[in-house]
Amino acid sequence: MVEETTDVVVVGAGLIGLAVAWRLAASGIQVTVCDPTPGTQTSSVAAGMLAPVTEVEYGEDDLLALNLDSVAAWPAFAEELESLTGLPAGLHRTGTLSVAYDVDDAAAIRRLAEYQERLGLDVQVLTGRETRRREPLLAAGVAGGVWVPGDHSVDNRQAVAALLRAVEVTGVRLVRQKVARVLTSGNRALGVELESGDTIRSGQVVAAAGPWTAQLAGVPDELRPPVRPLKGEIVRLRVPEAYRPALQHTVRATAKGFSVYLVPRPGGELVVGATTSELGYDTRVLAGGVFTLLRDARMVLPITDELELVETVAGLRPATPDNAPILGPSGLDGLVWATGHYRNGVLLTPITAQHIAETVLTGSVPKAAGSFLAERFRGSHGGHRADGDASGRPKLAR
Ligand SMILES: Cc1cc2nc3c(=O)[nH]c(=O)nc-3n(C[C@H](O)[C@H](O)[C@H](O)COP(=O)(O)OP(=O)(O)OC[C@H]3O[C@@H](n4cnc5c(N)ncnc54)[C@H](O)[C@@H]3O)c2cc1C
Repeated sequence: MVEETTDVVVVGAGLIGLAVAWRLAASGIQVTVCDPTPGTQTSSVAAGMLAPVTEVEYGEDDLLALNLDSVAAWPAFAEELESLTGLPAGLHRTGTLSVAYDVDDAAAIRRLAEYQERLGLDVQVLTGRETRRREPLLAAGVAGGVWVPGDHSVDNRQAVAALLRAVEVTGVRLVRQKVARVLTSGNRALGVELESGDTIRSGQVVAAAGPWTAQLAGVPDELRPPVRPLKGEIVRLRVPEAYRPALQHTVRATAKGFSVYLVPRPGGELVVGATTSELGYDTRVLAGGVFTLLRDARMVLPITDELELVETVAGLRPATPDNAPILGPSGLDGLVWATGHYRNGVLLTPITAQHIAETVLTGSVPKAAGSFLAERFRGSHGGHRADGDASGRPKLAR
């Protein structure tokens, strides 16, 4: 049995774990990431929208602020990633068009636009004709739209590939194994035990296991984060040369009360999503899911029928009871959560990496992350506060 030591172990190599590992390693500390299948899970399934404005929900003000901070952080994050790795980070700053299929749908998106305007967000209500002028291949009868210039997209698969390269370049050790349990002594995490029985001792453990984070063994039951898998199916289509670009912007449509989005990639791919179902860890793609996505997509973009169906895939959003991520001290000294990113994990990658790196390196939770502590789900239990609560102070000593 091998026993190693490192400064920080990151559990999970999705976008979140990889970005955290990169940020930590870039600051000069020793980082090991453990994952049996790096980069292949939820982060490679997602559509990659960076959509703080079009995803806004009533009453999610703290999450909106975090989402806006992260969309603002994406350009510099992508630039740094690209100059370090020489690989594309996949950022496309094209804006988003909300589209209404009929007059009832138009009334619904206008109501949302009024709310977005009250929040001071940049939206512009369009007539049907103005909507089609921006995207000429939309259905002739679309009843209206809303132009959202600040919502963009990322080719998440390119971002994953660039981050995998970035961790390699910055000297992160990638262990392709599942963590069997977090090692603890009293109220402290000491590292992790791998499925092989080998152990890695560390000053800090960052748990970024996405929808599987609540299953990590070794964590006391009362401290487990309330993260559950929320299934989503996606269809990937290829646009023939003759129709390219079928869309120039991300299109988010409301069609007869149903929601569907179409995210174009420069290479001719069109990502259509997404279903939502509470089916535990089931990632089978169901015929009904593919049917509804294509039914709704072809209502707003009739040429959908002419596109090649290249992939159907399902993934598990790491959902939380209030739809916001869980960031920072876990209540067990030396164990930090970076999880629960639900429908916004691609968007939230840069800001999560920044906040978690700061928490681990300084021992203080940045003020902007203070609303996202795990303790919000356990009343007064855990006792961690933002801005350097001594009881939650992470230590880097091995
Ligand atoms: C259909 C769909 C569409 C989406 N669209 C968008 C979108 O448009 N925009 C957006 O911002 N977000 C979107 N999301 C959400 C986004 O994909 C997630 O929030 C994000 O990918 C979560 O990243 P993660 O790194 O936490 O999880 P993951 O990518 O799932 O990574 C977790 C990793 O942990 C590993 N792991 C698990 N258990 C262990 C263990 N015991 N030991 C070691 N490793 C372990 C897994 O192998 C996995 O690689 C979408 C999600 C879905 C499903």
